[in-house]
Amino acid sequence: MSAAITSLDWRGPGGADLIVRGAHAVDAREGLDRTCDLLIREGRIAAIAAAGEGEAPEGAEEIDAAGLHAFPAFFDPHVHLRTPGQEYREDIETGTRAAAAGGYCGIVAMANTDPVVEHPADVRSLRERAGAEASVPTGFVAAVTKGMEGRELTEMAALREAGAVGFSDDGLPIRSAGVMRRALQYQHLVGGMILLHEEDPELTCDGVMAEGAVSAALGLTGVPAVSESTMIARDGALCIYEDARAHVQHLSARTSVEAVEVAKAAGAKLTAELTPHHLVLTDEEVRSLDARFKMNPPLRSEDDRQALIEALRSGLVDCIGTDHAPHSTNEKEVPFEDANMGVIGLETAFAVLYTELVLPGIVDLGLIVERMGAGASLFDLEPARLAPDAQANIALIELDAEWEAGAEGWESRSENSPFSGRTLRSRVVLTVVGGEVAYRRRKFAMRMA
Ligand SMILES: [Zn+2]
Ligand SMILES: [Zn+2]
Repeated sequence: MSAAITSLDWRGPGGADLIVRGAHAVDAREGLDRTCDLLIREGRIAAIAAAGEGEAPEGAEEIDAAGLHAFPAFFDPHVHLRTPGQEYREDIETGTRAAAAGGYCGIVAMANTDPVVEHPADVRSLRERAGAEASVPTGFVAAVTKGMEGRELTEMAALREAGAVGFSDDGLPIRSAGVMRRALQYQHLVGGMILLHEEDPELTCDGVMAEGAVSAALGLTGVPAVSESTMIARDGALCIYEDARAHVQHLSARTSVEAVEVAKAAGAKLTAELTPHHLVLTDEEVRSLDARFKMNPPLRSEDDRQALIEALRSGLVDCIGTDHAPHSTNEKEVPFEDANMGVIGLETAFAVLYTELVLPGIVDLGLIVERMGAGASLFDLEPARLAPDAQANIALIELDAEWEAGAEGWESRSENSPFSGRTLRSRVVLTVVGGEVAYRRRKFAMRMA
């Protein structure tokens, strides 16, 4: 039984009624692809009427959505909110505002904060703060191992009771197969997803980019793709052995896609995720030595990128997550080797995928929208959908809009986007979460019925 996304912590809902008029609503799973009026009452989609025929209840806000598309709002299973301890990069308020601006109705925050989220009290305190500050429903994972040191498991049962939606040492891999096995045994007992940053430190060494022709040309230490794929193979086998489930974050390589395929075919309850940056960028970008192209896992070759796109198109990959990882300017404007790894992504995810994959006809719009919402399922939450009586989680997007990423600044506290300065097509205009307007583009008029 799936719960509603709004069962995660956030400061809503407000409860005002809305009518969205004349939007072109698209929800591939619901077979919806037409212009209509969406009537929203008490947080739910009360009715989907023919355009111009929806009746607005007294006092409802009327949103003129002519020329806009309405999609089920997105869900990001992989966000770094940087709190506690690194609020100079991001916090709950700025991170969830960035999410709402990206068309998201829910996110899950990673545990590699300072200190690490590892005690039930840490989870409770974050949930309380999200209840006061978060623009969109926010779930928190706790670390798998104490201090994310990879040796001793956290108190997973107590953390689940405190409301952790899952477990992850993301930022770091779980090096020991024995520790991983015990974590999966607990997962089987207490539920919650285990999210995996797959990397074998013995193979990664101190690599700063993908191993290949570009790293050789630049004389930089490379991370081989097998660093990721061998760990996926190991953990797929362990999931089967322990009848547990796990989720592979940010696939970067063809060999990783193949490892996921083998594990799934063998019956592993394994899911996998792709990021927009790995889907549209390659290690050629690193020739600029611009640290905005430095992340972990690294950008890889065009052949790897093609394998990721094919894994998206074929349905092998379950969802798209951004791995939104804010860093301050002085952590990025240093020599490439010294820069921190990670990029922000919430505010550009849809536009990047629309511009680079949908417009050229490489991936269907409906599939992108569906995979950008599917991450909710990892946490037993029902993905947003456009259907009568569904929770009103809606992204209103102007597909024809053209904008320069970052030109007007960011909602995020950090600006380490690999897409800054690029011209992108499509822009989120308004995001409805649980029936409440969680984000509204400046200049977008508000009218009351
Ligand atoms: Zn990671
Ligand atoms: Zn991450």
